[in-house]
Amino acid sequence: MATIREVDVQELTTAVMDQVIDLQRDIHSHPEIGFDTVRTAALVAENLRAVGIETREQIGKTGVVGDIEVSGSTRCIAFRADMDALPMDEETDLPHRSTIPGAAHMCGHDAHTSMLVGAATALAGIRDRLPCSIRFIFQPNEEALPGGAPAMIADGCLEGVDRIFGMHVWPQFDTGKIGIVEGPTMAQPDTFSIEITGQGGHAAVPHACIDPIVCGSQIISSAQHIVSRNIDPRSACVVTFTQFHGGSADNVIPEKIELRGTIRSFDTEVGESARRRLTEIVEGVATAHGCRAQVQITEGYPVTFNDPEACEEARRSISVEVPLSDEGTPVLGGEDFAYYGQKIPAAFLFLGNRDESQGIVHFCHHPRFQVDDQALPIGVRTWLALALGAG
Ligand SMILES: [Zn+2]
Ligand SMILES: [Zn+2]
Repeated sequence: MATIREVDVQELTTAVMDQVIDLQRDIHSHPEIGFDTVRTAALVAENLRAVGIETREQIGKTGVVGDIEVSGSTRCIAFRADMDALPMDEETDLPHRSTIPGAAHMCGHDAHTSMLVGAATALAGIRDRLPCSIRFIFQPNEEALPGGAPAMIADGCLEGVDRIFGMHVWPQFDTGKIGIVEGPTMAQPDTFSIEITGQGGHAAVPHACIDPIVCGSQIISSAQHIVSRNIDPRSACVVTFTQFHGGSADNVIPEKIELRGTIRSFDTEVGESARRRLTEIVEGVATAHGCRAQVQITEGYPVTFNDPEACEEARRSISVEVPLSDEGTPVLGGEDFAYYGQKIPAAFLFLGNRDESQGIVHFCHHPRFQVDDQALPIGVRTWLALALGAG
């Protein structure tokens, strides 16, 4: 069994970097959305099979699972990458920018996929020296409900796996480091839509109307009390209204308005409490104004929880190769990696992806978000260090 010091991780990484860069450019310029990651999955499978990794396709619809089995070890750890792009246009000037209108890799999943393929290639070359079996999970549809992870899990991608790790390029801190946050790491991102119906009419005779705009304003104002008065101040929670639609003329009170927004929290009970209070407030305020209300809340991915022991393993294995950042903090974004963590111990890692000198400063989902080429070998080294330290 190899110890990490007997294997030159730097050398292994350097040997696969041309492949990683080529693949990242290729996937970046041919983005695929949702479950339609057919071309990307085929590229992944082709690369895994080329180095003798046992590969299964069409897992969770369009996912790919590769296995390096190590005889004599009963332990198996899994590494997960997501493959899907976002339904938006890219605004970078990169030579490998998206060639498909309305689709772009603005969340770095192209980097996640290519780094994990590179790591798998490197590990296949030293399979007889690995301390345990490694499973490589490539999933579609991370960006949209219901996520891609539940279908992958239903198709058995976690069977026989003891622990799982995921990684995301992260513009919150500089390239060169890995951030590990213990406990709740990403939030449960719920969305809501509220329809308020009053009685429309002439703006000059408000007494003959029931004004849904005034009612909607009161709802927004009262909902500010959820976080400030109902939620324990030691818990993080966000209730944000992001849309207020209504009306079509300066002299007409509309019949109906629509409010939309999001609730985010790191705790299941906090989220439940916020959702319940929002519904109560909307219905109560609407009744007080003589309006009718319809509230629809869509629950997002669960809270992504980083298991303390999985974090400890990650810190121990990775710190030999890559410096750890103390700038990683819990984020109120959502991530469907959470579903894996509900089944087995899991840790989701943040890969620094920020370099002001190159103008790489935009956050994920910005049309000028950019993967830092210098972050790619750091990500590969991180996977290799996790694999080699997993004994
Ligand atoms: Zn994203
Ligand atoms: Zn993402």
